[in-house]
Amino acid sequence: MRIGHGYDVHRLVRGRRCVLCGVEIPFELGPDGHSDADVPVHALMDAMLGAAAMGDIGRLFPDTDDAYKDADSIMLLREVVGRLHDRGMRVSNADITIIAQRPKLRPYIDAMCVRLADALGIEPERVNVKATTEEGLGFTGALEGIAAHAVVLLNE
Ligand code: MG
Repeated sequence: MRIGHGYDVHRLVRGRRCVLCGVEIPFELGPDGHSDADVPVHALMDAMLGAAAMGDIGRLFPDTDDAYKDADSIMLLREVVGRLHDRGMRVSNADITIIAQRPKLRPYIDAMCVRLADALGIEPERVNVKATTEEGLGFTGALEGIAAHAVVLLNE
């Protein structure tokens, strides 16, 4: 077994789609970034790469590379899954926490788990997504950004 942790933050801006865990959520703000800026998926990929001692997504998918402009992060996640498989590793389970004051994420959590499990090639019961606010405090409370943490276990 190997354990990994990932963390990511993206600024919230107007005029961007709000895609979290591959699920598009109707909201007047969206995470800004080079790719689709799917914050929890970025945290998840970093947790997987961390567990595998394979660096981070910045190294794998540089934001200076136009190939990743507006990239679908679920496709990048599939790529990471493939690289882990090449080294004989697969995700046993993943636990993700999204920190956002708004939008309300509860209605989308089940769809997020299904989407991530599909990309990871594991059962949805092995994926947990939860959301919390920070009680109006800090940058998430001010709707300046969304943060996410992820922890994964890999089987070798
Ligand atoms: Mg990111």
